[in-house]
Amino acid sequence: MNTLIFATGNKNKITEINEIFIRTYPDMEIVIKGLDVLNFKEEIPETTDTISGNAIQKATYIHERFKVNCFAEDTGLEIAFLEGKPGVHSARYAGEQRSDDDNIDMVLDQMSGTEDRTARFKTVIALIYSGETYLFEGICNGTISRERRGKGGFGYDPIFIPDGYKLSFGQMPTIEKNKISHRNKALQKMLSFFKDKILVR
Ligand code: IMP
Repeated sequence: MNTLIFATGNKNKITEINEIFIRTYPDMEIVIKGLDVLNFKEEIPETTDTISGNAIQKATYIHERFKVNCFAEDTGLEIAFLEGKPGVHSARYAGEQRSDDDNIDMVLDQMSGTEDRTARFKTVIALIYSGETYLFEGICNGTISRERRGKGGFGYDPIFIPDGYKLSFGQMPTIEKNKISHRNKALQKMLSFFKDKILVR
């Protein structure tokens, strides 16, 4: 079995991704583990000015330190009217406190009065496999609502309505969101990559 390290401290993300991997390719010969198996508990720097740059930075940091096959992901919300903001600054948009509530208030405030609600979530996964770096991007297009809708999900979910749906991500069951999400799309691309490498049958 090949081990692939997911450079995140978030256990939910590791469980979620393993569940998607196993569901998609039950015979896969890869197992995904978190940073805890490396006994790594520090925060990984995220200091570049792009989503892909941050994903590469996080994966490279772990690869240089431990010389293992690994991947990292970074996600941002890009709003057309705000010229792509909050983008790479999504987590800290309203300040260092990294508050989802404050971030949403700031976006709604900045967009009050505009009809142009177009937005998209973008996830980039940077994979370092056998010393080579590969990028996989997932986009979910949608619009920003005028007020919060629903209490589910996390981050900007209550104000993001994916194209083709009436409900916000915050109103959808997680399993439904995960089927169409930016993160899932990027993951599926990475899965195809492993399929092509014949690491999954
Ligand atoms: P991270 O890349 O997962 O750290 O996320 C960066 C920022 O985007 C944080 O504010 C998250 O709450 C937000 N975010 C990431 N993924 C999603 C999502 O699927 N829905 C809503 N917000 C998200």
